[in-house]
Amino acid sequence: MATPNFDELNPPSRLLLGPGPSPVSPRVLRAMSTPLLGHLDPAFLTIMNEVQAALRAVMGTANPFTIAVSGTGSAGMEAALVNLLEPGDTAVVGVNGVFGGRLAEIAGRCGAKVVKLEAPWGGVFSPAQVEEALQREGKVKLVALVHAETSTGARQPMEGLGEICRRHGALLVLDTVTSLGGLPVEIDAWGVDACYSGTQKCLSCPPGLAPLSFSPRALDVLRSRKQKVQSWYLDMTMIADYWTEGKRAYHHTAPISMVYALREALRTVLEEGLEARYARHARNSAALMAGLAALGCQPVAAEGHRLPSLNCITAPEGVNEAAVRKALLEEFGVEIGGGLGPLAGKVWRIGLMGEGSRQSSVMTVLSALEQVLARQGKVQRPGAALEAALKVYEA
Ligand SMILES: *Cc1c(COP(=O)(O)O)cnc(C)c1O
Repeated sequence: MATPNFDELNPPSRLLLGPGPSPVSPRVLRAMSTPLLGHLDPAFLTIMNEVQAALRAVMGTANPFTIAVSGTGSAGMEAALVNLLEPGDTAVVGVNGVFGGRLAEIAGRCGAKVVKLEAPWGGVFSPAQVEEALQREGKVKLVALVHAETSTGARQPMEGLGEICRRHGALLVLDTVTSLGGLPVEIDAWGVDACYSGTQKCLSCPPGLAPLSFSPRALDVLRSRKQKVQSWYLDMTMIADYWTEGKRAYHHTAPISMVYALREALRTVLEEGLEARYARHARNSAALMAGLAALGCQPVAAEGHRLPSLNCITAPEGVNEAAVRKALLEEFGVEIGGGLGPLAGKVWRIGLMGEGSRQSSVMTVLSALEQVLARQGKVQRPGAALEAALKVYEA
């Protein structure tokens, strides 16, 4: 067999404005190249404590069980469900996009009876809809919802949901993969019992860890399971012993460099300040959306329920959206996302997450889009998109 032979790694430079991963700062990249410690070294345990404290601050929780699961956002999703569900349990899952669908799929694999709450793609769920399902189903183990549905750009309002779940004896599980670090996440105030996220979206850290927080109520459910957790790797009864101060028992080797990266990413978030960070995300999204409207793109999610981190808009009528994305990537080095499921071929998904949420990103993607659309004869007034965006910045 011939020896594989390839050049030194030298990927093209890209502006990552898709649904993830988001751009990563040199600070975080430098942290990743820091020499390794052993995963039980007291110096590393201090670093873990720092990561946990910072995660609690960003998630809005005092939960002692707040950790980083080894794996991407989907590992966080699987960890939340596989630890809290047992075969025969009922799970009410909100499905208004791809990630609600993934939650339902995983809950089914846990052996749960899955009751799907349906809403149109781009829509959200009302407290009444959640309550009606809980009343109808009787004993429900948990309700699982997606706070920031990355496939549609919709933000689920959280007011009242925790209280409803509590009243019906159900846990509330929340996906904050595309919200954490980009818009307010207040899991204690909202009464969320299990919250997971990912490092690669608004935290602007490479993919590889999944923040996860369990409330004391969720921990009680975990500890009183009749059966062992089906997954060995994601069994939080054992992993808790590694992340709990005083114990720090070996389960699996922590991805050391990723923990370094998350520590620096969280330090960056807290240094900027949560309020300032959320305001920055909101402002850049407003400017981008104003520019996109001038190009004839319509938002998919309803007014008042739009994510600042993920801007999902319809492509202008008669435009080959895939060809536009290809041109953006190949000619301008700008990555944006296409549609998934029923939105495939119809929408673009432009992420302004973490380090990517900048005025320079907004102006770059708008001007590149305008140039590509102009070639297809789809631009009515050149410069209108940039003008509309600038108006938002100057307001
Ligand atoms: C990206 C995403 C996930 C999955 O995260 P991965 O890092 O791709 O595993 C889950 N939920 C939502 C809402 C997401 O946007």
